[in-house]
Amino acid sequence: MPLIFLGPPGAGKSTQGKILAQQGPIVHISTGELLRKAIVAQTHLGKEVQPYVETGQLVPDYLIMEIMRKRLQESDTKLGWILEGCPRTVTQAQSLDQILSSLNQPHPQVIYFNTDTSVVIQRLLNRGRQDDNERVILHHLQFFQRQIIPVIEFYQKQKLLVSVNGNQSINEVTSSLYSALQFSVLA
Ligand code: AMP
Repeated sequence: MPLIFLGPPGAGKSTQGKILAQQGPIVHISTGELLRKAIVAQTHLGKEVQPYVETGQLVPDYLIMEIMRKRLQESDTKLGWILEGCPRTVTQAQSLDQILSSLNQPHPQVIYFNTDTSVVIQRLLNRGRQDDNERVILHHLQFFQRQIIPVIEFYQKQKLLVSVNGNQSINEVTSSLYSALQFSVLA
């Protein structure tokens, strides 16, 4: 089953995505990573998205969906995938639905890493990137929350969303994630 991980930066999406991908044949796809690689390689796409990524703005939906359409057609995605960093807007969520039905793939199960702002700020400060001070982080988080609420509602309406408590330790989040997935498969 395809999985989408939603949650603020610092909620553990990437960590948990990598843990899950290590356990089986599923691949972990991060739009942020795909974009950063394209920028390093200075591909046509990389040059186009660079100004957005470097200023922390959202890359236009059509470019993101072009990347996703290509990525989801690669053969390593056949046995399942975990998507992180996308969709960031309802337009992306709708386009992703279209891509999935055109590729005859099932609806994704969406996991929301529900995490307190104070916890996320502390984790991001501990990561210690130079541009991460508390004020900048808070600004990013508020921007993220505004963007993501309609996406969460979009998946809630379709009963595809399950919440996991992202405030816990890495191992605890992994356990909650497994329980949530089992529950949603059995439901
Ligand atoms: P991330 O690693 O998910 O924090 O993404 C890093 C940057 O890549 C973001 O600040 C955006 O500029 C861009 N980005 C990643 N995913 C998306 C997306 N789904 N839609 C638009 N921009 C994105």
